[in-house]
Amino acid sequence: MESGVERTARDRPVVNPYSGETIALVAEGDPADIDRAVAAARRHLPPPPAAERAAVLDEAARIVGDRSESLARTIALEAGKPLKQARGEVARCRDTLTFAAAAARSLGGEVVPMEASSAGRGKVGIVVRAPRGVVGAISPFNFPLNLVAHKLAPAIAAGCPVVLKPAHQAPLSGLALAAILVEAGLPPGYLTAVPGDGPTVGAALVEHPDVAVISFTGSGPVGWDIRARAPRKEVALELGNSTPAIVTADADLEHAAARLAASGFTHAGQSCISVQRVYVERPAHDEFLELFRHAVDKLVVGDPLDEGTDVGPVIDEAARDRVLAWIEEARSGGAEVVTGGDLTGDGLIRPAVLVGISTDMKVSCEEVFGPVVGVAGFDTVDQAIDLANSTPFGLQAGIFTSRVDAAIGWAARLRFAGVTINETPTFRADQMPYGGLKDSGNTREGPAYAVRTMTEEKLVIVEVPPG
Ligand code: NAD
Repeated sequence: MESGVERTARDRPVVNPYSGETIALVAEGDPADIDRAVAAARRHLPPPPAAERAAVLDEAARIVGDRSESLARTIALEAGKPLKQARGEVARCRDTLTFAAAAARSLGGEVVPMEASSAGRGKVGIVVRAPRGVVGAISPFNFPLNLVAHKLAPAIAAGCPVVLKPAHQAPLSGLALAAILVEAGLPPGYLTAVPGDGPTVGAALVEHPDVAVISFTGSGPVGWDIRARAPRKEVALELGNSTPAIVTADADLEHAAARLAASGFTHAGQSCISVQRVYVERPAHDEFLELFRHAVDKLVVGDPLDEGTDVGPVIDEAARDRVLAWIEEARSGGAEVVTGGDLTGDGLIRPAVLVGISTDMKVSCEEVFGPVVGVAGFDTVDQAIDLANSTPFGLQAGIFTSRVDAAIGWAARLRFAGVTINETPTFRADQMPYGGLKDSGNTREGPAYAVRTMTEEKLVIVEVPPG
């Protein structure tokens, strides 16, 4: 099992969310496997030199490029992500690996101006960054390749050996990436992938005394519970959102409608920054809604493996039933479903646009994680900012307007860690500092930022005799 996959007595089926077919059996680990993996990881402290780790990351990026089509098919099969979006995820995974290689080569310390105080006279102070120790990486199903890369690649760059627990519903892409990193030259045991479910294998990783850092991406309740259970560890959380976009009456409405229609339904809305709430200044409300609905109705719903598909299934039946129930709750609370929200012949939720959402509806105040976007009107920008800020989440928000200078001020008042202007808030490039405020998390990913979380500062003071 070290640095790869080995069979155990427990096999979990991986199910294609579109067809319901079992596409693989994955041998699941247990807490004893976590013990073995952590022990193997600890043997790599101190780690190999940064130049070697960077070379592994560069080589892994090259291999991912060579295998991009098969990796994209794996994502589509296990997570139900349409193939063209899965290809985008593979390309981003290459970026993540490449930026991590750059971080490995450039992560440095600083010199402290010791002579600035009389106490420091005759001394040189150097701050160096050292790996915190073994990283426990826990990842979600919705970006089963690139969000694994956002944990493994910075860990390698930072010099932290790492144990991965990939998402139980979609572990194959993460296992493939782990195998690629080993093939690229990572020494045996530096990285071990242990598939399994959260409450047993994930919890064993969280509670292991020799794991120094937990890097977690997933849902809020699970993430904050992990934070509470590991008070002495560095626990980095990337969690959910209820992503808002504000559209003022003077915005380029066609551009806004096109960008928001595409990004609200990518991977059937199962992105942490999927647009979920659109607030439109009243004079433009009806025109925007017409453009938006038209763009949404053009989205092709179907098999993720078909080249033309824009919207596939949600991850499983329980998710489908929950999303349909939330649409129904909004409808009975006074919202109108202007398109979609019903099932296609093959049981997929047709992209739903709801009008007249209010802040107390689940489709508004909770993370819907399905193909549902609600639209509501506003009278003043102050009101729109209050509406956007009305949930406990704070990951990303967007503004579409022709007043870009004013929007920079509005961005400062939006309690979100990232604000896009004239771009959908679903936008992410892998080198940027990405993360959440409030319930949405407590860290920033992007390799150059994640390596800082995974390392600690150490001060070295040298007494320098007068020369
Ligand atoms: P999830 O919380 O159900 O699971 C995430 C991971 O945690 C899985 O590997 C799961 O097996 C594991 N897990 C579950 N219970 C655990 C426990 N008790 N101890 C340890 N590990 C445990 O999330 P999901 O459904 O896979 O993913 C969707 C969620 O992830 C959404 O809320 C989404 O917004 C969020 N997400 C956030 C980001 C971000 O960068 N902020 C990115 C993608 C997804």
